[in-house]
Amino acid sequence: MSKSTSPQWSPDSWRSKPVKQCPEYPDQAALQKSLSELKKLPPIVHPREIVKLKELLRDVAQGKAFLLQGGDCAELFDYCQQGVIESKIKLLLQMSLVLIWGADKRVVRIGRMAGQYAKPRSSPMETVQGKQVPSFRGDILNGFHLDERELDPARLVKAYHHSSATLNYIRAALSSGIADLHRPLDWGLGHVRDPELKAKYQEAVNFLTDMLRFMHTIGADKNEKLDTVDLFTSHEGLLLEYEQSLTRLLDDPTSYPHGGKKEYYDTSAHFLWIGDRTRQIDHGHVEFFRGIANPLGVKVGPTTPTSDLLELLRTLNPEREPGKITLITRYGAGKVADLLPAHIRAVEDSEYKQTVVWQCDPMHGNTQSVSGGIKTRRFSDIFSELQQTLRIHKEQGSYLGGVHLELTGDAVTECMGGSEGLDEDDLSTNYTSFCDPRLNEKQALELTFLIADHYRQ
Ligand code: PEP
Ligand code: MN
Repeated sequence: MSKSTSPQWSPDSWRSKPVKQCPEYPDQAALQKSLSELKKLPPIVHPREIVKLKELLRDVAQGKAFLLQGGDCAELFDYCQQGVIESKIKLLLQMSLVLIWGADKRVVRIGRMAGQYAKPRSSPMETVQGKQVPSFRGDILNGFHLDERELDPARLVKAYHHSSATLNYIRAALSSGIADLHRPLDWGLGHVRDPELKAKYQEAVNFLTDMLRFMHTIGADKNEKLDTVDLFTSHEGLLLEYEQSLTRLLDDPTSYPHGGKKEYYDTSAHFLWIGDRTRQIDHGHVEFFRGIANPLGVKVGPTTPTSDLLELLRTLNPEREPGKITLITRYGAGKVADLLPAHIRAVEDSEYKQTVVWQCDPMHGNTQSVSGGIKTRRFSDIFSELQQTLRIHKEQGSYLGGVHLELTGDAVTECMGGSEGLDEDDLSTNYTSFCDPRLNEKQALELTFLIADHYRQ
């Protein structure tokens, strides 16, 4: 019997557990009004798409494909604009081409997009301009501007509409050829000063350009596959009121005869993950997600006891479906070598061998504050964690199946380093993140070239 049909689980059984990071709304009547509105609205994603992603992730777990997941730390409603959406899709597509070339594998793409509106915070209050104010918790909860810091339940419904509009445009852009590989891509390598690095990147670009030209010449690009690609959506499943409202008992598209089996799908996104602050086994988030049929991620960090890993897997994936759970590891460059091997052994020496997707998030363990309290990350730390993670998986005989990155298609100056050589003084030039620092387009591509290079050696 699956957990979703076990008598103890229901879409609101999480309410009987302790829940971290979810707010107590002062205006309960307004909250209920928003929730009943959400419950009537149609699913944002379809079970068929969710199941398709789960099948692709099974290939990743088995070492046959690679997972690229990326997007903003905190997506704002204001990012629901054509240009912002397009630049992110194009960047993810371009990165995936480099990965296909490097790893010689299919690439599964998931955006941290169309719903990444809720943020866990270390403290409910923060000091701004000498005043104590409620922390910004993401657009689904409150606003960044100081006069919008109170919780507003109407934002739940706004989140639904911004999420749907974003995904609507993603679908429209993809099906209309934004990913059309017949168009020349702008690889913009002008900023790369190191001649050796530049030569490496140029080699990849030349190969990809030649390959696309060759396919065009022989007519292989007439295949529809080159005009459209899949891009799935994801966000942290933090605000359980919202996730529950979009969770529906629907036909399992894989069951035969159709309609024979139903599952609970969280239709707010294809993929949801449980954050580092909310993955306690006996708490509300794990309780909620153990009943959900979507593929799920769990952040794993320096504070994750090795013994929790198997308990998490047994709770969230009792049927041991390959690809159902992605373990998103984020230790920091200085800690990964000490902590990752034991985590790998715990899982790979158990009944969960080769069922999980191991994904490296080299961002969240490498955040630091520089003068003036600006949050940043060093490109060298990000790359170092990734490189160590690749090496450790190789040594342990396991497969690093993917990367999880905070990035944007815009020319921001939030992370230091990379070929542009951004330093502390450059951070103020274009720092626009309302939460964690993101890789800009050049840094994201550069990291991808470095991963590809690892696989080609
Ligand atoms: C995030 O992914 O933005 C995040 C908050 O990560 P973590 O839960 O790993 O700290
Ligand atoms: Mn973040």
